[in-house]
Amino acid sequence: MAEVVTQVEKLKNYINGEWVESKATQFEDVYDPAKKEVIAQVPISTKEEVDHAIEVAAQAFESWKAVPVQKRARILFNFQQLLQKNKDELARIITIENGKNLTEALGEVGRGIENVEFAAGAPTLMMGDSLATIAADVEITNYRYPIGVVGGITPFNFPMMVPCWMFPMAIAVGNTFVLKPSERTPLLANRLAELFEEAGLPKGVFNIVHGAHDVVNGLLDHPEVKGISFVGSQPVGEYVYKRGSEKLKRVQALTGAKNHSVVLNDADLELAVTNVFASAFGSAGERCMACSVVTVEEGIADAFLDKLVEKAKTVKIGHGLDEEVFLGPVIREQNQQRTLGYIQKGVEEGAKLVCDGRNNAPEKGYFVGPTIFDEVTTDMSIWKDEIFAPVLSIVRVKNLKEAVETANQSPFANGACLYTSNASAIRYFRENIDAGMLGINLGVPAPMAFFPFSGWKSSFYGTLPANGKDSVEFYTRKKVVTANYKAPSFD
Ligand code: NAD
Repeated sequence: MAEVVTQVEKLKNYINGEWVESKATQFEDVYDPAKKEVIAQVPISTKEEVDHAIEVAAQAFESWKAVPVQKRARILFNFQQLLQKNKDELARIITIENGKNLTEALGEVGRGIENVEFAAGAPTLMMGDSLATIAADVEITNYRYPIGVVGGITPFNFPMMVPCWMFPMAIAVGNTFVLKPSERTPLLANRLAELFEEAGLPKGVFNIVHGAHDVVNGLLDHPEVKGISFVGSQPVGEYVYKRGSEKLKRVQALTGAKNHSVVLNDADLELAVTNVFASAFGSAGERCMACSVVTVEEGIADAFLDKLVEKAKTVKIGHGLDEEVFLGPVIREQNQQRTLGYIQKGVEEGAKLVCDGRNNAPEKGYFVGPTIFDEVTTDMSIWKDEIFAPVLSIVRVKNLKEAVETANQSPFANGACLYTSNASAIRYFRENIDAGMLGINLGVPAPMAFFPFSGWKSSFYGTLPANGKDSVEFYTRKKVVTANYKAPSFD
């Protein structure tokens, strides 16, 4: 933890529609990772502060749940307009606090806006079902209701899109919300709160408490919190899922990944290289859908690798606000050092380092250049662990069956991609690969807001994924009314 300094802004919490100075005694530095410069300080708020925010949200729930759904949706429409109007500013904040380039940041803002657009459809999405006659004069109707206060815990790598997977829909269907953003990228969330307030959201419906473990535990333990949406790493997700479930809440935890792409001999080579490259090294590999292993059929492996390495060697690395930059920094020095450690381990474990990203990046920020290993095997750490950095492993295989069997050895199963021109291979891949989100001849198969988003195996804990109709299911509960309307007598 850093000493409190006065030159940079100390971020405030947002509780009951007010910007509140935290009572925290600890503050953490927030960096522009491309410059290693401190740009703000985030409070590591206390359990008492999150408890207070939850109580405020519980009180706000009593009136918010009674607001007609179309009126709630209108506020979402206003919010959407304000996000559109301010999208360039939002993207700049993301680039500065996260490091991804401005084009990627704008893409992220667009994805977040799509979630708000989807949530604005709440009147239709909340409709229940009914049957007019299930016995003489008896009918049955299923109504949806919000669940109460929802807690959101989010990672550093998508400061806008991931919170937008959660709070717009949760709030549109009548819940109130307490968000704990990542302490490494906390700035964007505060801007979202300002814009949501400007859109007409009543006080107490959306709250932000900055911090770390204590705030997370506060959300997990408080009996007024009825649902937890978590996105982050596997160990933390497992902890959140277990502790939240023990406290009898519904929990969805989207966790870590090690995404495999398979390139077959009959793939369009240019397309495969372009997409794998963007997917492996875009956002400095800090994407839960980043490609981190490519399993290549032997017949195309040399040509594929040559082109990939050639491309990697010409990439421009630097500050994401520079329009020519493709690759920004990783988020912190610790992540940079951890990545360099993995590269060293890869060499020691016998993989062939064909593109070394250790020394080709600017010194000023937390950079690691694109790194590619060939001849990787499944017993190596670089194959097994989520590195979450621009490090790509190549595995050579005889055929698709071997590729799928290899990929399925991973405990993670978030996304997987296949490059081929063979329909039978596509079907085989779809039926046999372990992953929740598949891409065919494209790089980052992150589903749109109106489709479910989650992995399988250790990449997801829970029953209902984020987004799509599943998010409506997660953020609502049902009441089924069976009613006997005795037929009137007309005698
Ligand atoms: P992280 O797990 O370190 O942090 C996520 C959140 O949990 C943060 O808000 C953090 O403050 C909190 N947290 C961290 N340690 C905690 C602890 N010990 N107890 C309680 N709370 C704790 O994740 P990150 O480094 O911010 O994000 C990167 C990870 O997120 C990667 O593993 C990536 O794959 C994953 N991710 C997954 C998805 C998905 O959809 N599956 C999407 C984005 C990111």
